[in-house]
Amino acid sequence: MKIVILDGYTENPGDLSWDGFEKLGELTVYDRTPIEKIIERIGKAEAVIVNKTPINKVTIEACPNLQYIGVLATGYNVIDVSAAKAKKIVVCNIPTYGTAAVAQFAIALLLEVCHHVAHHSQAVYEGRWENNADWCFWDYPLIELSGKTMGIIGLGRIGQATGRVAKALGMKVIAYDEYASNAGAMIAEYVSLEELFAQSDVICLHCPLLPSTEGIINKVNIAKMKDGVIIINNSRGQLINEADLAEALNSGKVYAAGLDVVSTEPIQGNNPLLKVRNCIITPHISWAPKESRKRLMDIAVDNFAAFLGGNPINVVNK
Ligand code: NAD
Repeated sequence: MKIVILDGYTENPGDLSWDGFEKLGELTVYDRTPIEKIIERIGKAEAVIVNKTPINKVTIEACPNLQYIGVLATGYNVIDVSAAKAKKIVVCNIPTYGTAAVAQFAIALLLEVCHHVAHHSQAVYEGRWENNADWCFWDYPLIELSGKTMGIIGLGRIGQATGRVAKALGMKVIAYDEYASNAGAMIAEYVSLEELFAQSDVICLHCPLLPSTEGIINKVNIAKMKDGVIIINNSRGQLINEADLAEALNSGKVYAAGLDVVSTEPIQGNNPLLKVRNCIITPHISWAPKESRKRLMDIAVDNFAAFLGGNPINVVNK
């Protein structure tokens, strides 16, 4: 079988191997594929693997040999799954691979807000400690988390992992989730969304992007939060109304935000959050430690091998 990977670079910038796929077929890997080249590059291939490159109905109809679409991610909104189903093309995703890494990154963003480690190290390298009148200095309020309350919106796999670390730091952990679970109740006290907004010193977003969660951090809900709250989001950018958050950061109502995701990625130059105080933004890297990407690669290969064996797994368009 011919296998084409259209945008392999972020999954494997060179520190992993595509061997697993190579053993299963005749492989071509592209780092990136512009929209206008998608059909040409799939050509007569039977299998296509993508991360964020869209596979729409037009592509599916223009590539009659396609039998398999593998997504190198959990979210598969880039694929027209019903068009694929109509042509009996199997679409598979990676349900989970980076829970520990994403939770760790949420905590990393929070600790950066609390200590500004990178800023203070930079200040030392710039000579400010050498020339300082006192034996130490700091440029931001330093924040101790023990005794403070973390409110987690979405207490699923990642939310629970973040909650566990927050508890280890001495935080009280509360959570709002549409579906409470016994596993979640072992980690956090379930509360209503209103209670979560009222009680949390730190709010972490770990829910999926759904119509019910889009823009959940907005002007109205920010008004219900404690003055000086910290907001952490490494779930999806559209959970936050960015203009409303920018205003709240500038007024100080929200003390700081740590964000690994924004509404349009890559970030646009006119994103209002690029001009505010106390907002840490990273380029969607929570998922990307090598250990997580290796797990993702292994599952992607297993998915394809299972498809070839006639018993596909992780199918999203049954
Ligand atoms: P999960 O399905 O295990 O957990 C999601 C939780 O959200 C579930 O408990 C679910 O009941 C809850 N939920 C659903 N609707 C809700 C609502 N309206 N309000 C509150 N809670 C609601 O998923 P997960 O593996 O923990 O992943 C969570 C999210 O993390 C993903 O949806 C994705 O957006 C994000 N993510 C980000 C990265 C990254 O690199 N930044 C990587 C992986 C995942």
